[in-house]
Amino acid sequence: MLHDISAKRYPAHISIIGAGVAGTWQALLLSRAGFDVTLFERDDPALKSSTGHWAGGMLAPYCEGEATEPAITRLGLRSLDLWDQELASGPRSGTLVVAHRRDRTDFDRFARRTAGHDLVDAERLAILEPALAGQFDRGLFYADEHHVEPRKVLPHLHARLNDHGVAIHYGEAPASAKGGLTIDCRGIAARDQVADLRAVKGEMIVVETKDVQLNRPVRLIHPRWPLYIVPRADHHFMIGATTIETDDDGVSVRSALELLSAAYAVHPAFAEARIVEIGAGLRPAFPDNLPRVRIDGDRISVNGLYRHGFLLAPALAELTATYLTRDAIDNEVMQCV
Ligand SMILES: Cc1cc2nc3c(=O)[nH]c(=O)nc-3n(C[C@H](O)[C@H](O)[C@H](O)COP(=O)(O)OP(=O)(O)OC[C@H]3O[C@@H](n4cnc5c(N)ncnc54)[C@H](O)[C@@H]3O)c2cc1C
Repeated sequence: MLHDISAKRYPAHISIIGAGVAGTWQALLLSRAGFDVTLFERDDPALKSSTGHWAGGMLAPYCEGEATEPAITRLGLRSLDLWDQELASGPRSGTLVVAHRRDRTDFDRFARRTAGHDLVDAERLAILEPALAGQFDRGLFYADEHHVEPRKVLPHLHARLNDHGVAIHYGEAPASAKGGLTIDCRGIAARDQVADLRAVKGEMIVVETKDVQLNRPVRLIHPRWPLYIVPRADHHFMIGATTIETDDDGVSVRSALELLSAAYAVHPAFAEARIVEIGAGLRPAFPDNLPRVRIDGDRISVNGLYRHGFLLAPALAELTATYLTRDAIDNEVMQCV
């Protein structure tokens, strides 16, 4: 997919604006490629105003392939390798997809439309997730998928950047670099300059319970609530996420009911869980829901990561690095404007 184009020269200094998952990975791979990188973030290190603050952190290129273009799976698989290299976190957890008997038709359709899975019977399902024994008679196991915890992994990567000598300026929001190349990774905030970017709200709830233990993200196929549960540290579970075309980042009663109903449908013990947090983020998306690396002179915009910021950010950073070092572009997601 990479095509060589005419040779160009780029300044050694790069300013990256936005230290969310997109900007952080750009900073990591470009600093490793030998560029002198500075990262600017308007927020403090907790990044509470980023979309990624609300994310599940699932790295699920096969499951996401059910309703997206093949480019998402292709780039997502590459990203998984880059996450593995970066975190060296051991074996991948995989993803388990389940459905109740009455939703078998939707389950079978999901299986047909995705690759990378094994059909598991009730016995194997009980080995993978003992807490779900007896709840479902079959599942789909995507062994090569993984997940990260957004609120832990970004501080970890920022510390790595510091170790590499990359300066991160929190509380700073420059419009562009003073000299050198600017990479705009502002997510939904870039709508002031990126006209075709829209917001797609994702709502989530975090609950706490000691009565359920999960080893990996569990997705529930359901005609009304096709949602997922991601296990986190300290008996916390993130239940996500809605997909609503709106600029309003509030959480509706309907969405809260649906998210909690989905958790209850996966395991009745979630009924007694304690609600820890409810929130929503605005996903930045282009009309076709594919990401874009747009190259416009000495400004590059990396945006439109939609539901796939954690899944795609490493591969997109690799594409930018390859463009700047080898003048190669990926026709599916890169544009010279
Ligand atoms: C509920 C929910 C669940 C999700 N689950 C997943 C998932 O499981 N897997 C997955 O891959 N993706 C998931 N996503 C999508 C993912 O969160 C987004 O794709 C991703 O956060 C986009 O990354 P970004 O870096 O482009 O934007 P952001 O995460 O929004 O980061 C942009 C950063 O730029 C900063 N910024 C903005 N303006 C300026 C400025 N002028 N100067 C300096 N800094 C600025 C912001 O403060 C922010 O920190 C989910 C999203 C939601 C809402």
